[in-house]
Amino acid sequence: MKQIALTGIKPTGQPHIGNYLGMIKPALELAEDYQALYFIADYHALTTVKNKKELEELTYQVAATWLALGLNLEEVIFYRQSDIPEVFELSWVLACFTSKGLLNRAHAYKTLVDENVAAGREEDKNINSGLYTYPILMAADILLFGTHIVPVGFDQKQHLEITRDVAMTFNKTYREVLVVPEAVIRKEVMTISGLDGRKMSKSYNNVIPLFAQSNQVRKQVMRIVTDSKRPEEPKDPDECNVFAIYRHFADADAVEAKRRLYLDGGLGYGDMKNELYELLESTFSKQREQYNALMENRNELDKVLEQGAEKARDIAVPILVKVRKAVGVTGSR
Ligand code: AMP
Repeated sequence: MKQIALTGIKPTGQPHIGNYLGMIKPALELAEDYQALYFIADYHALTTVKNKKELEELTYQVAATWLALGLNLEEVIFYRQSDIPEVFELSWVLACFTSKGLLNRAHAYKTLVDENVAAGREEDKNINSGLYTYPILMAADILLFGTHIVPVGFDQKQHLEITRDVAMTFNKTYREVLVVPEAVIRKEVMTISGLDGRKMSKSYNNVIPLFAQSNQVRKQVMRIVTDSKRPEEPKDPDECNVFAIYRHFADADAVEAKRRLYLDGGLGYGDMKNELYELLESTFSKQREQYNALMENRNELDKVLEQGAEKARDIAVPILVKVRKAVGVTGSR
């Protein structure tokens, strides 16, 4: 039997090229060798998205994105987190094996605490408990399926370590009930930078959305921050936010030629941005059409996700029963 690869994406904004390069593309490639389970983490999104229509819309966007990018429904089990009630039962069990100190150090939570402190506010101001316990729910998402590998971007490395820690603590208390998963982080795409050079992230408002209309993509590309060097001046490509994105999409010869042009002088940032925009258009325009067609057919998306959830629960239920048996609660005999 194939090993299990599992990963998820939060519907908190339109999927962007950081999600694509850092996680979606590697995950689609892994689906050839693993039994892949890919899901939409809608209950995770509830920590920040508090508008029903918006959450529904973003969930469909994530579903349509995966499918337009080539997720094969014959091979991959594709579902919504909220369709798997077993996740939430396991989440409670795991909470009882997660030290509070581990959660205090989780970086998503710590970042918000640091922001509050820097602004002179009380340290937990506006931080809900869902956000604080997010790594436990994430551990449940993963451990419920006997997952072996989790393809993620670098920003999820620490959360994955928490999952491993929790699984090992559980196994030490009982026996080897849970599979301890490994993160798979591709070095060359572990952190894709955004328009301003920081990590591309919905929360920094510095993203290039994958399937926005082409004029919006163009607008975002033109917003990429550069220095003010003139075209004839030599430049360091590795310091340039435009090149940082370009090099993931152009072929190796084109990247090398551009690198030379940066170093020798003769390249204007405006031209470079135009070229990047054209490259993104040619890379994604076909898939964008598919994406738009899928977004017009939400009943079909619902159907696909419900069917995926049924298959996912076939894997999840026996593992949850094993956990119940191990700890000695109802249904354990
Ligand atoms: P999220 O949008 O936080 O649910 O992230 C979904 C997946 O995309 C996770 O595996 C992240 O690690 C990955 N990801 C998000 N932003 C980036 C980025 N800028 N570079 C690389 N991977 C990313």
